[in-house]
Amino acid sequence: MTFLTDSTFVLHFLFFIEKIEPFPTFIGIIELINERMWDMPYKPRTKHAELQILDSLNIRMTLSSKDRQHFFNLKRGYEGEVKFDALTEKLQCDCLVLNDLLLQTNNTLFQIDSLLITSKKAHMFEVKNHAGDYYYEADKFFKLPQYEILNPLHQLGRSESLLRQLFLKHRINLPIETSVIFINPEFTLYQAPLDKPIILPTQIKNYFSQLNSTPSKLDEKHKQLADKLCSLHIEESPYQQLPSYTYENLRKGMICAACDSFSTRIEGRKIICVDCGQKENLAAAVVRSVEEFKLLFPEKRITTTVIREWCSIVDSDKRIRKILDDNYTRKGDNRWTYFE
Ligand SMILES: [Zn+2]
Repeated sequence: MTFLTDSTFVLHFLFFIEKIEPFPTFIGIIELINERMWDMPYKPRTKHAELQILDSLNIRMTLSSKDRQHFFNLKRGYEGEVKFDALTEKLQCDCLVLNDLLLQTNNTLFQIDSLLITSKKAHMFEVKNHAGDYYYEADKFFKLPQYEILNPLHQLGRSESLLRQLFLKHRINLPIETSVIFINPEFTLYQAPLDKPIILPTQIKNYFSQLNSTPSKLDEKHKQLADKLCSLHIEESPYQQLPSYTYENLRKGMICAACDSFSTRIEGRKIICVDCGQKENLAAAVVRSVEEFKLLFPEKRITTTVIREWCSIVDSDKRIRKILDDNYTRKGDNRWTYFE
């Protein structure tokens, strides 16, 4: 094999796969490789702290029905956005994708789920992950039979107007095109208006292939625009809606990374989930638990005693201390050691 270059080796390997396995086809594999070579989004999406905290609280305490509803809405929204990202990541046209921007114009905050910059336009997307039967009537959206929801077109119009003002202020001269995209394949909209920028689940594929085939050649100006918007992005949302909680009222223990179960036990250097069989390196699982603790209690100090109690199934201080030492910076003197 040493005389083969890397790419020849890959081709031989692909032909080998093709012979033993008709699916995926040779072309399919090449496409797969191509897709993975596309740039990451210019500004990737991250799970908001609010959702991460609610994720953890939902496991460690009983949320009120209002908080649980808020948590599920956020979660569903985020899952829809991630599905949408999978589509923009596949685009091959020259474009920059900025996900999840929180911006401010004239003291008014607005949020953009996804902004796609091509050479001719800035495409702004409001992503909705609603499922079920809805209808549109007199500028309103209803879930059948009669439950009115916020009109996403109003939300979109507001963000568009604020983005336009922001562009004007920063002398950005690029037309803005906006769309509400309903990403969930189980969404139906009766009486959908023809003259509104709505992309329905059955239209997504076409929409993206059209976008993909629209000629676009970005230059330095577009990159500067993307950098400008990233620099204006506000990291911490002031809108967080969290229930009150204390360290004392949260259930302690190490949660399985795969199924959220507390039924985990230690075997050698691993933690094993009794419910789903997931195995994870113990040190990695402790670090994961420490990060969860830090997110929930940013004001509290990380000490061996606190983390041993938080993890509850690791019953040796020495083991916890070793993991903290390996992954964090030790601060303070011996008696009052903590980690950062
Ligand atoms: Zn599990």
